[in-house]
Amino acid sequence: MRKPMAGTGWKMNHTAAETADYAERLKAILAPGIADSLDIFVLPPFTALHAAQRHFAGSSVAYGGQNMHWDLYGAWTGEISAPMLVEAGCRYVELAHSERLAHFGETYELVRRKLDAALAEGLTPILCLGETGEDKRQGRTVTVLAEQLATALTGQPAERVPEVVLAYEPRWAIGAAAAASPGHVAACHTALRTLLTERYGEDVADRTRIIHGGSVTPENGEELIRLPDVDGLFVGRAAWSPEGFARIVDIVHRAA
Ligand code: PEP
Repeated sequence: MRKPMAGTGWKMNHTAAETADYAERLKAILAPGIADSLDIFVLPPFTALHAAQRHFAGSSVAYGGQNMHWDLYGAWTGEISAPMLVEAGCRYVELAHSERLAHFGETYELVRRKLDAALAEGLTPILCLGETGEDKRQGRTVTVLAEQLATALTGQPAERVPEVVLAYEPRWAIGAAAAASPGHVAACHTALRTLLTERYGEDVADRTRIIHGGSVTPENGEELIRLPDVDGLFVGRAAWSPEGFARIVDIVHRAA
């Protein structure tokens, strides 16, 4: 069985002090032992990771980075490596977020190198996949997802694939007024599971989690989490307050 997930990426929001406050308020809301039935994670900015380490220590909430470099160290000014995230206590690292692709020139070929380094250093990559609005209009959604998946996972042995969390986030639905329709979400998650089956076999596909993001809210999350092949919710704006995130966690928990 795949353990469900509730996660939030904060983008460039929350200082270290705000992270400490968020953590204390979230811990006060979450039921003890909740992490037995779902994995809960937050992705703060790099400068707040040590605050996350201090304030989420021993709690149900894990945390991770929003990006990393593929090299372990070196002349890469302004970058952060996998060992640095591990030292800061991270369990996860998000890769290929739509904003990294759109504004920082990242490609899935670079993402492949990052994913390789993340796995080698013991981090769980959260690999974002998703089509643009134009891809969708041209009927290329599944083709694009297949290309992204194949490129990012090139060279990974099948047994490593379930260590990666796939995050299907249609790029046109991120930061938007509404999430993708339940029909579109279900079709794309099922298509991704089928791609995994074709490439790595049923056992790997059954064990690999595919979470959903893109304008998810407590209102639409109830339906989205119950769709076939949706193993979790991955939320931006609606979880930037601990109370908002606690509502998302509760939705995933009740559906588990
Ligand atoms: C995101 O940035 O990955 C995201 C899903 O944001 P939002 O929920 O705000 O659309």
